[in-house]
Amino acid sequence: MKEKKCNGYESMFTFLSEKDFLKHLETCEECKKEHERMQKISNLIQEAKPYIKQKRKNSQILKAACAIFIICFTTISIPIYTLGTNVYNQVVASIDANSMTVEEMGLPVDEYGFLYIN
Ligand SMILES: [Zn+2]
Repeated sequence: MKEKKCNGYESMFTFLSEKDFLKHLETCEECKKEHERMQKISNLIQEAKPYIKQKRKNSQILKAACAIFIICFTTISIPIYTLGTNVYNQVVASIDANSMTVEEMGLPVDEYGFLYIN
């Protein structure tokens, strides 16, 4: 039998005191069912909590691993970048020494003789 006073599970849960709400559950089949459902969900959340925490820990490990990777990568890539710059400077210096133009090096150039990269 449906209780006439019932305004639905959510509003009963919100507006009744815990005592009145539990009392209402005894008389209202619909809310009882809903409450059991909520209880199950709540239990599931309780059960899932350790897993969620574990997941958070894992993501923290992942973040730390990422940070280490980035640190390692920048530490390695900086010398490579410096080396690259040195090579570039040497190439530029050798071009200057031989008074070679970009065109003479056989590289594609635009109408002004500048290096043309498609
Ligand atoms: Zn109810």
